[in-house]
Amino acid sequence: MSYDRVRESDPAVADALAAEKQRQNDTLAMIASENHVSEAVLQAQRSELTNKYAEGYPGERYYGGCEHADEVEQLAIDRAKQLWGADHVNVQPHSGTQANMAVYLAMLDPGDRILSLELEDGGHLSHGHPANFTGQTYEVEQYQVDPETGYIDYEGLRDRAETFDPDIVVSGYSAYPREVEWERIQAAADAAGAYHLADIAHITGLVAAGVHSSPVGTVDFVTGSTHKTIRAGRGGIVMCDEQYAGDIDSSVFPGAQGGPLMHNIAGKAVGFAEALEPAFTSYAQQVVANSQALADRLQEQGFSLVSGGTDNHLVLADLRDSHPETTGKDAEEALEEVGIVLNANTVPGETRSPFNPSGIRVGTPALTTRGFGEAAIREVADLITRVVDAPNDEQAKAAVSERVDELTDEFPLY
Ligand SMILES: *Cc1c(COP(=O)(O)O)cnc(C)c1O
Repeated sequence: MSYDRVRESDPAVADALAAEKQRQNDTLAMIASENHVSEAVLQAQRSELTNKYAEGYPGERYYGGCEHADEVEQLAIDRAKQLWGADHVNVQPHSGTQANMAVYLAMLDPGDRILSLELEDGGHLSHGHPANFTGQTYEVEQYQVDPETGYIDYEGLRDRAETFDPDIVVSGYSAYPREVEWERIQAAADAAGAYHLADIAHITGLVAAGVHSSPVGTVDFVTGSTHKTIRAGRGGIVMCDEQYAGDIDSSVFPGAQGGPLMHNIAGKAVGFAEALEPAFTSYAQQVVANSQALADRLQEQGFSLVSGGTDNHLVLADLRDSHPETTGKDAEEALEEVGIVLNANTVPGETRSPFNPSGIRVGTPALTTRGFGEAAIREVADLITRVVDAPNDEQAKAAVSERVDELTDEFPLY
């Protein structure tokens, strides 16, 4: 897509947009929450629907002229129902955080209790962090992953639920490499008389494709982001049983939001249709195969991985054993210099700070979209190793950078 019309009226923004497009093409995006949408999703997102006010829901809007907005939103809803098998879907949340907000607003009163995973262990800000409205509005207790195994400490969770008596238990994570056992968390929530929200932001695509077990039908509420593994452009989604449909819809609008971002909902509709194609199942399977190849190769190269591997789209390397002098931030910065973009991350039992933590989180969704298979991913693992082994070796970094250029040419974007 060219930015010629932007350039005519605003060269500064056009330059930045063109440079961002180039940056995405010329680097390896390994941030586990990122992906590349199709040109069809991009085109839908930049449509004239950005001009349209459509407060309300299909067939019951507060404005005229909504017939096409209705069509688009209904298609997004119907396709989401088919993808995840949910009774009721709301596609209006502006992001995953707003989707979570809608559930809390619908089901909790200020001062009610949330039990969620510690942020340092892979949780999310919107699960009760003090810097987020959730931490300021609700009483929050946290469960942990077992520092030895890296797996969710399900028994600790159950005990914590028993003593804390939460109103809602939150599962679903940002930096957790293993399959989540929804039923075990549901049992703990049931025993405590609490609702259960499964936030599948990262794994929406894996769940839709059946390569990760689905919480739909087991838990009360499922939320997600639409721009991560599901590849449908920036936004959020809430799913629930029919009995909560009215509560959820009125807490999204008018509770938490005004007019929906109809152009983004068009992107969701197009992305969901793509995800219903058989090719998407192959894509999701390849994401996991690539992630496992990455995990195996990094371990062969001496890295120590939280939980010893992965079941999903990401690996979490704890650098403390393998590279005690190198922090996650050091690794992130050295890798960014060579065009491998990922993020420093806290690890279970973190001994450094969240700003300069001990781990790196490495994901395969975006590279898999570009066509990377296991052999290419293993090579990327070797490139990562060369840089993290010697983050100040300029000659080695120059060589890696050259190889990254070749790989990005071999697997072009757009
Ligand atoms: C990414 C993520 C979200 C949503 O984030 P937004 O940036 O608001 O879309 C919510 N929960 C988890 C666990 C996440 O990883």
